[in-house]
Amino acid sequence: MNKKLLRELPKVDDMLSDARIANVAQTISRYTLLKAIRNVIDKTRQAILTGQIKDERLNVDEMVERVLELATDDSTMNLKPVINATGVVLHTNLGRAPLAPSIIEALKGIAGQYNTLEYDIKTGARGSRYSHVETLISDITGAPAALVVNNNAAAMMLILSALAKDKQVVVSRGELVEIGGSFRVPEIMQQSGSILREVGTTNKTHPRDYENAINSEETAMLLKVHTSNYRIVGFTEEVSLEQMVEIGEKHDIPVVYDLGCGLIDHFSDANLMTEQTVRGSLKSGADIVSFSGDKLLGGPQAGIIVGSQTLIEKMKRHPLTRALRIDKLTLVALEATLRLYLKDQSALTNIPVLNMLTLKSEIISIHAQQLFDKLKPAEKWCQISLEAGKSQVGGGSMPTVELATTLIALKPKHISVGVLQAKLRAYTRPIIVRVNNDKLYLDVRTIQQKDYDYIAETIIDLLGEE
Ligand SMILES: *Cc1c(COP(=O)(O)O)cnc(C)c1O
Repeated sequence: MNKKLLRELPKVDDMLSDARIANVAQTISRYTLLKAIRNVIDKTRQAILTGQIKDERLNVDEMVERVLELATDDSTMNLKPVINATGVVLHTNLGRAPLAPSIIEALKGIAGQYNTLEYDIKTGARGSRYSHVETLISDITGAPAALVVNNNAAAMMLILSALAKDKQVVVSRGELVEIGGSFRVPEIMQQSGSILREVGTTNKTHPRDYENAINSEETAMLLKVHTSNYRIVGFTEEVSLEQMVEIGEKHDIPVVYDLGCGLIDHFSDANLMTEQTVRGSLKSGADIVSFSGDKLLGGPQAGIIVGSQTLIEKMKRHPLTRALRIDKLTLVALEATLRLYLKDQSALTNIPVLNMLTLKSEIISIHAQQLFDKLKPAEKWCQISLEAGKSQVGGGSMPTVELATTLIALKPKHISVGVLQAKLRAYTRPIIVRVNNDKLYLDVRTIQQKDYDYIAETIIDLLGEE
C-alpha cells in the first residue's frame, strides 16, 4: 500500500509541466516554483511514510493546488499593506505613522533617481545630507540647531555617548522607563558608557535630589525622560523641566529631555492638550530635546535631536553619527513631512496621524454609520450594531488619553469571532480588528473612507461562504 503510493509520487519535472503550473510560470519564477514543488513532494512523501495518507490513490490535483498556493504566497511581498481597524492610531506593530500623500509623492520622485543627497547644487561641491532638513526643523520647532538619526533610541545613544561618556547622568527614579521593543533607559546608558546617577524615588523626586547629586567634576547632564507609556498617579511629585533647567543653569550642566512622542505643538486642539510639545520643551529652556519621527510628528522612522548649536556640533563630530546616519528615503519623507507643518494650521488636516487623533466624535459617528450601511447585507449571517467606544493613541504615547469613538460590533451567527478574525487577517489585504466579549470590533477612526467598500465586500464575502 505504502509502496504503491510512493511510486505514484510525481517527479519534479512532471509537476513543472502540469498545465496549471506551466500557466503561472510567466509570473512566478522557476526558482520559486521548484522550491514549492520540492516542498510539496517532500511533505507528501513524509505523510505517506508516516501513514497520514492512506488513500487508494494519490491526489495529485491536491498537490498541484498546494504548489500554486505556496508559490503564490512566496512570490508576493512579505511586507504588505493592511487595514488598521483597531483604532490604535500609532500602532507600532502596524508601522506607526502612515504617511501623507504629499510625502509619498516626494518618495516617488527621489527613490528611482540620483539626487542631491550630499551634493551642493550651487557650488557643485560636496554637501551635507543633514542640510536638507536642519533649517526646516529649526523653523518649525524654534530650535537653534538640529540633527537627525535613525530613530529616537539612536538619538539617545548618540546624545549620551557624545556628551556624557564616563560621566554621570542624573535621572529621576520615576523616569527610568522601558519603551516597547527593549529600549530601556538604564541599559542604553550603560551601552553609551555614561554612568547612571539615580535620584529620588519611584513616586516622588524633589529639586533637592538633583541638587544633592550634582558634582561639578563628574556630572555631565541632567536627563529628563518623558514617561511616554505610563503615568504615575496618586501621592507623586515630579521635578518640572523648568525647575531642572534652573538647577542646570546654576551649575552650568546641560539639561536633556527625551520627549519621545514629538508632538510639535498643541494646535489648539483639546485631544492634544495633555501631551508635552517640542516647542514647549525648548521654550522651557531644555538644552537638548529628542523625539521620534514616526510618532506624533507623523513622518518616517527617525530620531530628531534639537537644541543647542554647540552641543549638536559635538554630536555631529562623534563617530556614532556615521553609524546612525539616515537614508535618503527617510530624509526625503522627513523633509516632506516637515513642509506640511509650514502651512498654517494645516498639520491637523494634512498629517494623517494628527488628523485621526483630532477627528471630532460627531464626524466619526457619521463615518461609522456609512460603513455600517455598507455592511447591511451581512446581517443575514451576523448581528451588526453601533457601539460607543474608545480609541487609543498607541505607540507608547498618551497612555491615559481615551478618545471617544463609534465602533461597529460584529457577532457572527455560524462561525466563531476568532475564526472570522483569522480569516480577515488572511485576506489579500489583511484587515486587523479588535476582539472583545465575543464580538469583533471595527473602529473607523483609523480606517480610510476609501477602504469602506473593500471592508464591506470582504466581510460579506467571508460570511456568505460559510
Ligand atoms: C518611543 C520612545 C523612545 C524610542 O523611540 P524610537 O523612535 O522608537 O526609537 C525613546 N524614548 C521615549 C521617551 C519614547 O517615547
